[in-house]
Amino acid sequence: MTESNAALLELAASDLRMLIGGERVEAASGERFEVLNPATGETIATVPAANAADVDAAVAAARAALPGWRAMAPAARAELMWNLGTRIAELSEELATLEALDNGKTRGDALMVDIPLASEIFRYYAGWATKIEGVAIPTAGGLAQHVYTVREPVGVVAAIVPWNFPLLMCAYKAGPSLAAGNTLVIKPAEQTPLSALRLADLVEEVGFPPGVVNVVTGDGPSAGAPLSAHLGVDKVTFTGETGTGQKILEASKANLKRVSLELGGKSPSLVFADADLDAAVEGTYGAVYFNQGQCCIAGARVFVHEDVHDAFVEKLLAKLKTVQLGSGLDADTDMGPLVSAEQAERVTGFISAGRDEGATELAGGGPAELAGEHANGYFVRPALFTDVEPEMRVMREEIFGPVGMVSRFREEDEAIAAANDTVFGLASGLWTRDVKRAHRVAAQIQAGTVWINTYGFFDVAVPYGGFRMSGYGKELGAEALDPYLQTKSVWTDLS
Ligand code: ADP
Repeated sequence: MTESNAALLELAASDLRMLIGGERVEAASGERFEVLNPATGETIATVPAANAADVDAAVAAARAALPGWRAMAPAARAELMWNLGTRIAELSEELATLEALDNGKTRGDALMVDIPLASEIFRYYAGWATKIEGVAIPTAGGLAQHVYTVREPVGVVAAIVPWNFPLLMCAYKAGPSLAAGNTLVIKPAEQTPLSALRLADLVEEVGFPPGVVNVVTGDGPSAGAPLSAHLGVDKVTFTGETGTGQKILEASKANLKRVSLELGGKSPSLVFADADLDAAVEGTYGAVYFNQGQCCIAGARVFVHEDVHDAFVEKLLAKLKTVQLGSGLDADTDMGPLVSAEQAERVTGFISAGRDEGATELAGGGPAELAGEHANGYFVRPALFTDVEPEMRVMREEIFGPVGMVSRFREEDEAIAAANDTVFGLASGLWTRDVKRAHRVAAQIQAGTVWINTYGFFDVAVPYGGFRMSGYGKELGAEALDPYLQTKSVWTDLS
């Protein structure tokens, strides 16, 4: 390991053991696995490799903690959550370094998006802990009956988290889950476990009761699969690939556990002829290439009106040519490496497929060889295709990398049909100065989010989640509490 990475890691992470029932523990098997820095390919840490035995222990700890957590005054739960959010904000610089080291994203992006939103989520849902209420319902029995509802936690929640926004995705799931009175087992992605372990430090530091939050590190087959099949888990909340979501749904059958799925996407961006073209280019660049394109919401299918298509492509290409690849830890890096060698290979495979299928490649995407300590990093130059056809793989499958496809349209209806020509429905963007058109089109796009004259904005108060094969169960906002609660109706005979 290079000296700078070693020093940063020492600074950024304290205890690289799991958190189960308030104890920091190794895996029962004693095994650990390696965590790599994607900018160099070198091992920066090892963490415990959990298997079914560790999952059992974590679920048992969460179960044991449930009555106490439920019984705790909501304001006391709120205070713990608020303090956790505050500690995340106070440690922003350190946590951003950790995410850059572990995931490859730029520190700047982590400081702009991942860390502040994670902090805000714990504080926002801290506010909700005291506001989960039932209702009294008048019935046909009139005054002879008293009926009220109570909103109870579902119980033990398993949060299975992806690698693209490691800490943030833990917060997405932990915030509403804890506010609703559930206990948790978090399994971070095997590629990026470090910030979840740092979160475990903070959970202990602010004084959560043992077992309320447990963190197990391990891969999908050894730790994720037993967690999603576990009879002691009442709900799984998952973000990741659609295929993995289907496996989790399958595994949930045995005890009919609740499942929330935030899955893949192939989101469209529509640029109309009257759009502010410079704003559309800037916004589309972010839509396609932010986080190296490793975003579920990536607006990778770009449909541009034929009158402005060429000008749009020229401007986007000019922007791409300025992109500086490098380590996420370097301040002048625009685009870091992809998360892993497998992901870099997968994405370059898609770029080759686009070429083979006859799309025109404008930006020269593909593996990038950087010098010095970054020679073995997983860097991929951003790619831009035009002349793409609807049936091409690059237009149908989620790539999860810096690859954009631009095609042209003439009529509004044609653009809407093209936008909806996908099995997914996570997000979408549209660019126009015509407010009537904007809302007319927004109403017809089959996606859980429509951004008008912007792309990729998130706010803790705004619900987010997919339509169609992008999954179900909203995250963020008040609505995100619902999947973590179950309603009990209580009847009393007063006659
Ligand atoms: P990727 O293949 O890009 O890593 P996944 O959707 O497979 O994306 O991974 C997201 C999360 O799901 C990770 O935490 C991973 O360990 C977990 N996971 C992978 N396979 C399974 C599985 N069969 N059951 C439960 N979790 C899984």
